[in-house]
Amino acid sequence: MPERRGLLIILSSPSGAGKSTLARALRDWDPTIRFSVSATTRAPRNGETDGREYHFVDEAAFKRAVAEGEMLEHAHVFGHFYGSPAAPVRKAIGEGCDMLFDIDWQGAQQIKESALRDHVLSIFLLPPSIEELRRRLISRGQDTDETIARRMQRSWDEISHWDSYHYVLVNEDLAATAERLKTIVSAERLRRSQQPNLLEHVRTLQREFEDRS
Ligand code: ADP
Ligand code: 5GP
Repeated sequence: MPERRGLLIILSSPSGAGKSTLARALRDWDPTIRFSVSATTRAPRNGETDGREYHFVDEAAFKRAVAEGEMLEHAHVFGHFYGSPAAPVRKAIGEGCDMLFDIDWQGAQQIKESALRDHVLSIFLLPPSIEELRRRLISRGQDTDETIARRMQRSWDEISHWDSYHYVLVNEDLAATAERLKTIVSAERLRRSQQPNLLEHVRTLQREFEDRS
């Protein structure tokens, strides 16, 4: 049995609130955390590499993967399909490793309803203000004005699901939010339910205790 049960760490937020940046910070802090590389039908942004940020696929390939049950969850976001391949997630859980997801509320909900629900640690990021959210989308410098407008329009839809997450962080100061995220992950790893070997240890303690009397 692995030393501890893997967590499925789900990060959601309106686009531009800082999920990718914080996901990177978390993995720099602990490189054993695996990143769930989603499949998407959207085009790569500058600097994105196929297989690293996303598996960039066409619609036919995406639909085939869904039909063959290869996706743990999937959703239609901003006019494109996105989905989390199931196989790497099952492998990580089997090996007692944590997996990090940068997915929207629809995907989070599907994983929370799946057979892996007990592994889920869900965290929602809120921006300090709507104006700052817009500034961040613009400062990222990756999207056209039209795409930014579409993402801003959808931001309330995403924010309105904030209360179905275990934790909510307002991502104002990046370093402070990253610290809070690490604290949450560190604490959640110590939950009794995440430590399957504890029972064996307590039994050993019991035997030692009884041998003394
Ligand atoms: P998401 O993945 O949620 O769409 P990103 O991580 O791409 O968002 O962040 C959007 C932009 O905002 C990036 O340019 C990023 O560097 C910046 N950013 C993220 N967090 C903060 C923060 N706390 N303060 C200022 N800028 C931030
Ligand atoms: P982006 O195009 O900015 O990378 O992502 C757009 C939105 O899609 C973000 O909210 C992101 O979290 C979400 N997303 C990315 N991958 C997945 C996925 O596999 N499943 C779901 N449900 N959402 C995803």
